[in-house]
Amino acid sequence: MKSSDKPIVRFAPSPTGYLHIGGARTCLFNWLYARHTQGKFILRIEDTDLARSKQEYLDEIIESIKWLGMDFDEIYYQSKRFDLYHDYAQKLIDSGKAYKKDDAIFFKYDFANVEIDDLIRGKIVFNELPKDEEVIIKKDGTPTYNFSCVIDDALMKMSLVIRGEDHISNTPKQILMYKALGLNVPQYAHVPLIMSEEGGRMSKRYGATSIREYKQEGYLAQAIANYLLLLSWSPGGNREIITLSEAKDIFEIKKVNKTAAAFSMDKLNWMNGEYIKKTGAQEYVALIEDYLKGKNFLPENTGAEYLKKVALLFKERLSKLSDFIIRARFCFYDDYTYDDDTKEILERNMSKEVNILMDKFSKLANFNKEETEKEFRQVAADLGLKARDLVHPVRVALSGKKVGPGLFEAMEVLGKDKVIARLKRLVDYWNANTSKQ
Ligand code: GLU
Repeated sequence: MKSSDKPIVRFAPSPTGYLHIGGARTCLFNWLYARHTQGKFILRIEDTDLARSKQEYLDEIIESIKWLGMDFDEIYYQSKRFDLYHDYAQKLIDSGKAYKKDDAIFFKYDFANVEIDDLIRGKIVFNELPKDEEVIIKKDGTPTYNFSCVIDDALMKMSLVIRGEDHISNTPKQILMYKALGLNVPQYAHVPLIMSEEGGRMSKRYGATSIREYKQEGYLAQAIANYLLLLSWSPGGNREIITLSEAKDIFEIKKVNKTAAAFSMDKLNWMNGEYIKKTGAQEYVALIEDYLKGKNFLPENTGAEYLKKVALLFKERLSKLSDFIIRARFCFYDDYTYDDDTKEILERNMSKEVNILMDKFSKLANFNKEETEKEFRQVAADLGLKARDLVHPVRVALSGKKVGPGLFEAMEVLGKDKVIARLKRLVDYWNANTSKQ
């Protein structure tokens, strides 16, 4: 590469499936490299498999790339470039390096040891190839991956190819094709694979899902991007939280780790929770609202002000937006049931104490968190109870759950009528199901 040339990299997905986390990370590294070097980032859609490529996948791939916070400078579709591949195949036939048999065109590898200086893995030497010839244009006229990839990487003047390690075995074949065509060979950086925590291949159960599924589960784009980056790269100094725009200033492809990265769902959940916490209140409420609307979760008459209050109750407690649907449901619906793990609490009939609390609460003029807490503590003290002994049943009464947001904040949000009705509901439950103590 001449020093005056702009670096050019590409992400080359095949739209035969949704964008998965491995692909997304390859895309991120390409994007960061291009933006860091003020180079060009090309999105090349490798849709040569006309039967398996689908518009739905293509749309999702582009949407996910943008959602994660990336952009691209140019987009190409291999399906629109078949004439080019045919021309180059013809050149190989004319020079005796390829031949036609049964309507398919075969390339004959002229094998010599191939060596690359991979920017991540260092020197890699290839001493043999599994085959000595390979189809480059299939019977139906479509090019095979290695061939169209080489033609396009050459014509689009790729200076560096950043892609998954699973493509290392293709690299010597591609280099021999560049040489046969007299084209410049780009540099390579093969990114390590993402493994499951147990060390094996990622499975769907352990996070190998598409970006759109993560989005549907309520992960934030920035958290996913940050986490994927951190899988094989480190901003240094034990730093973990870094936005894409911060990362692009310091990203160096050479600093990407060689070893496979282990995907940890717990770590991703933690990171997502951190991003939720650091989102500004207004933006967070909008995120929640959007998410809930997308899931058709909210009762029709939910007021914006009420939704905001509930959303803020949970801001510091979510690891993903879908948690909200489970944890905050009681704030929107009265038909909640008591969770299984509250059994022990439900078995102890405290209707007498809770009745006293209801009576005191009903007389409160200002049903806010300060007043309810004061009254609550007073009732507990008068009854000779530890506050905690009353907190547990009251929490279960209000939410059906053993854990939840701050009890008095939650009471203020729910309001007096609801709080009293729910306390009464538990008293009724006790009276029907347990004997008084
Ligand atoms: N379409 C290939 C893939 O999705 C691209 C490989 C490459 O980057 O060369 O794996």
